[in-house]
Amino acid sequence: MKFADLHLHTNYSDGTSEPVELVREAKKAGLDCIALADHDTIEGINPALEAAAQEGIELIPGIELSCEYNDAEVHILGYLIDYKDKQFIEKLAAIRKIRESRLHEMIEKLKGLKVDIQIEDVLKLCRTNNVGRLHLARAIVKKGYAQSISEAFQRFIGDNSPAYVCGFKLKPEEAIKIILSARGIPVLAHPYILGNDGLITQFIGYGLRGIEVYYPEHTKNKTLLYEKLAKERGLLITGGSDYHGASKPEINIGIIKIPYALVEKLKEEKAKIETR
Ligand code: AMP
Ligand code: ZN
Ligand code: FE
Ligand code: FE
Repeated sequence: MKFADLHLHTNYSDGTSEPVELVREAKKAGLDCIALADHDTIEGINPALEAAAQEGIELIPGIELSCEYNDAEVHILGYLIDYKDKQFIEKLAAIRKIRESRLHEMIEKLKGLKVDIQIEDVLKLCRTNNVGRLHLARAIVKKGYAQSISEAFQRFIGDNSPAYVCGFKLKPEEAIKIILSARGIPVLAHPYILGNDGLITQFIGYGLRGIEVYYPEHTKNKTLLYEKLAKERGLLITGGSDYHGASKPEINIGIIKIPYALVEKLKEEKAKIETR
């Protein structure tokens, strides 16, 4: 049987592995197929595709778009996107601009909490300008204001913590549209974070095609519930580890391995889009 992990980050977003390293790590973990899901960038896809061809592993182009719903962050995955689509790439650049401006806002809020972090401390840890909270958390730890990344989130920049800024102006509805325009398959990432399964119905109305059922933080009960929901609503099922390398040390690549049959379903959906 073949297995896949469809949610991986490289250092083109907030993971710590180069695309080529990630591909080798995936191979070592016994995976046959992986998908990149870097936040708001497709830049890691080409180098990963090259490495995947060399290592003899299948690589699915993907992305994880940051959006905002009721002041909370919602992540929409896009699989098998036409990642060379010009309009799509332009939209991503706009989201990354927001990432930079919210970093400034979070650093200001941290100052108010007597946590003194300079922009450069954070950008140093970031390969491109695609900066995020994990980079900021690492800088907070490096400067000794927290013992660990999870403590940095808990005390300062977690979703309900005092220096958190969401700031993503993109709505889930728009993110889904952007992915569909780039002929990709929109999938709701880690649905448990929403804390409101009713929203899934709303998102289906916008064109959502799948949900990430298999995810490290999903309890057995949640997983069963999402499996049932997906079947009832005719949604595709995906899953992945959300591996970020050393930035999320408790999560190893391939701790979620999904049957390859689910990848085949994604491809069938893509074929339908192509013939439309
Ligand atoms: P951002 O896109 O900048 O909002 O950062 C989101 C990323 O932060 C997610 O992909 C997670 O990897 C990470 N993250 C969010 N909450 C936590 C947490 N409590 N502990 C560790 N990492 C977290
Ligand atoms: Zn991340
Ligand atoms: Fe996410
Ligand atoms: Fe992710």
